Amino acid sequence: MCPTADTSQDLIGQITLLLCDYLRSQGDQSQPVSRVLGPEQLQQVFAAAGIPLSLEDSHEGTAPKELLAAVRLALQYSVRTGSPKFLNQLYARADPISLAADWLVSALNCNVHTYEAAPVLTAVEVEVLDKLAACIGEPYTSTHDGLFVPGGSLSNYYGIHLARNRADPQYKQRGSYGGPCMVAFTSEHAHYSYLKAAFVTGLGTDNLISIPCDAAGGILPDKLEQAINSAKAVGKVPFFVGATAGTTVLGGFDPFQDLAAICTRHNLWLHIDGAWGAACLLSPRHRHLMEGCEQADSLAWNPHKLMGLPLQCAAFLTRHPGMLKASCGANASYLFGEDRLHADYDLGDKTMLCGRRGDAFKLWLEWKAYGTAGFARKVEHSFRLAEHFEKAVRASGGKFALVQARSYVNVCFWWVPPPMRPFTADSAPSEALDTLAKVTPAIKSKMQHAGDALINFQPLGSLPNFFRIVFSSALSIREEDLDGLLNRMDQYGQGVWQAARQPDLQPML
Ligand SMILES: *Cc1c(COP(=O)(O)O)cnc(C)c1O
Repeated sequence: MCPTADTSQDLIGQITLLLCDYLRSQGDQSQPVSRVLGPEQLQQVFAAAGIPLSLEDSHEGTAPKELLAAVRLALQYSVRTGSPKFLNQLYARADPISLAADWLVSALNCNVHTYEAAPVLTAVEVEVLDKLAACIGEPYTSTHDGLFVPGGSLSNYYGIHLARNRADPQYKQRGSYGGPCMVAFTSEHAHYSYLKAAFVTGLGTDNLISIPCDAAGGILPDKLEQAINSAKAVGKVPFFVGATAGTTVLGGFDPFQDLAAICTRHNLWLHIDGAWGAACLLSPRHRHLMEGCEQADSLAWNPHKLMGLPLQCAAFLTRHPGMLKASCGANASYLFGEDRLHADYDLGDKTMLCGRRGDAFKLWLEWKAYGTAGFARKVEHSFRLAEHFEKAVRASGGKFALVQARSYVNVCFWWVPPPMRPFTADSAPSEALDTLAKVTPAIKSKMQHAGDALINFQPLGSLPNFFRIVFSSALSIREEDLDGLLNRMDQYGQGVWQAARQPDLQPML
């Protein structure tokens, strides 16, 4: 029997209990972070529980018992992002208060495009944007506009789109064709969403110029200015600089003061992608990394990363009121219009979307629950863990080597095979680099299959694959956990290395 109105209420109650149990067990380190199954094995597991993944035979509904079985399996075979061993990406454990708020937002199902349809969620969104603007400081505190958006990628898109409309006001109507050849600039370490924004805004990736960085991942201002001058010399029209606060891999910060001065000189829009790094504005000890960010024309900030809000919770802010409406507004008369109640509060026509979730409410409730001081503690804890981890790598007697001194809460490092110690990338022969390129993924794979810590790896420029550990929403992680992790990584490394040297074993490398 499929659920009826009554039984679906019961089902919600039972699912809630399962979820509460799941949340309580998140810190349990004996549970694997991930149970690795291939797509066919997943099909089998669900089929065996009487609720196959395929919807092919779902003409009639499914009974509550099987639905509950599916919920259990979804919990069991999903990656445990709430585990202290989930160190893979820039999001991690979602805080329970904001999870409850997320549920409330879904239960209300109010669409935050008009005040009429979502009075509370609209008022809350305005308040939260005010608070984020105040964290940035003047002139944002007094004058700003903004939106909650479905992610940092969209914020970067809005940055380019607004800048484009300011530089070429006819663009919205005329399109790219027949207009000036516009060019934008980002750093070589900038997030790939800038690239996507370049192709969806019609700018074209040829016109998004990549500027080299220093070793810590910050853009080189002289190189930027040279590139701007070169573009002007061939008749192109520079209009946008996409900076980054906290690059995805190294955690680098661009020098915002210098960039703002260049942008003022050349009349360019400065956008800061602070999806990952803007959170350090919340800590009096670390906010200096954002120095000069208040001069940016717009800024992206993802509370769903370091601050631990559940996906998705991301904000776009600009210090130019009216620009969102001017660049994105379509004045759909069935929805918007000044003759409607409190229409001046409507947010919908500022966006490129129609329906909108009340994501700001999650951050509002979380802020009320923990205060700015609570967020500062969270950010500072992440920094402390990163400092501890970096020190442990330095003190490992050559077992591990840092890729680059840390600027933020990303630590990039290699496990080094014994004959290659001590390792420095600059002087390493190319065979050594080739070896590291293979050893790193082999260790990751071992760890993944053991359900041990998930830590991402990637190459960067000429540097071969290295681990990048990140401390996002990391209050449940202790320094001892990291010491244990490094010991285990060394053991995995030795295992991989020995297996690779025994010809009769399955070659690992
Ligand atoms: C994560 C990230 C993004 C993209 O944000 P989404 O919310 O995943 O779209 C953009 N820039 C940087 C620097 C990021 O770390």
